[in-house]
Amino acid sequence: MRNIAIAIHGGAGTITEATLTAAQDKAYRAALKEAVEAGHQVLAGGGTALEAVEHAVTNLEDSPLFNAGKGAVFTKEGKHEMDAAIMCGKTLEAGAVAGVRSIRNPIKLARTVLEHSDHVLLSGYGAEEFARTYQLAFESEEYFFNSFRYKQWAEVRDSNIFLLDHTKKIDEKFGTVGAVAVDMNGDIAAATSTGGMTNKNYNRIGDSPLIGAGTYANNATCAISCTGHGEFFMRAVVAHDVSCLMAYKGYTLQQACDEVVMQKLVKLGGEGGLIAVSAAGDIALPFNTEGMYRAFKKNNDAAQVGIYKEM
Ligand code: ASP
Repeated sequence: MRNIAIAIHGGAGTITEATLTAAQDKAYRAALKEAVEAGHQVLAGGGTALEAVEHAVTNLEDSPLFNAGKGAVFTKEGKHEMDAAIMCGKTLEAGAVAGVRSIRNPIKLARTVLEHSDHVLLSGYGAEEFARTYQLAFESEEYFFNSFRYKQWAEVRDSNIFLLDHTKKIDEKFGTVGAVAVDMNGDIAAATSTGGMTNKNYNRIGDSPLIGAGTYANNATCAISCTGHGEFFMRAVVAHDVSCLMAYKGYTLQQACDEVVMQKLVKLGGEGGLIAVSAAGDIALPFNTEGMYRAFKKNNDAAQVGIYKEM
């Protein structure tokens, strides 16, 4: 039987044992475990990689702990604008949304774009109209309100500073979410969802919804979901670059990930990490920051959860 596997992330950044309380550490681990198990269950039940990554990311979007969906950060004008993308490695079909407001689960909207639109990336009002057509759930401003996030934003709202959700300037670290998976047929998929960066300019779009930058999947190489300072991930075209190193240079998944995350991004000054899976079931979880919220589960092995540089 083929390997089935899923890996997820909840953001990378200045995350050390000193920056999290024991209770926060426990809450993150529990949330990561729940999401990876939920995605794995889809795979174990014969579901596709695409279904599994959507399911795992939806679970993370519904948690206030992560900077996506319910936990999305505030923009410069005190709103929430979310980006998401999903890609199928078998067909190379992709769907993405950028700068959407009030959508409960942006990843579901990205999947709907993949399934029902001739376009790949919809933004703002047009994406929201599309969501209405397909009766996706909308939420009020209160749903997205979170006092910690508000405080985080209030500290920088009158400046031009915009913060990666896990920077040293703040002492709690929440983040973008993503999932990559390989299913029983050896098909792979990737999904990413984010609120972006605190105090980001309104209408700023990050790497997450950009196919090839923050999200990419191709059965011939790998499925990737990134997290980190999006501007650098866009300029380094990170997700596609990992795939290219495998396709054109014959690198293994781990070699390709290390080259891009630990060499290329570091030289540019790009903080962050990614999760990756190949059709053979290999998994890589590189990050060049102190920590990355992450978890994976392969076949019937126990789920592995990590936050710091512990696995
Ligand atoms: N990459 C995301 C962005 O720049 C942020 C993150 O990963 O936390 O929008």
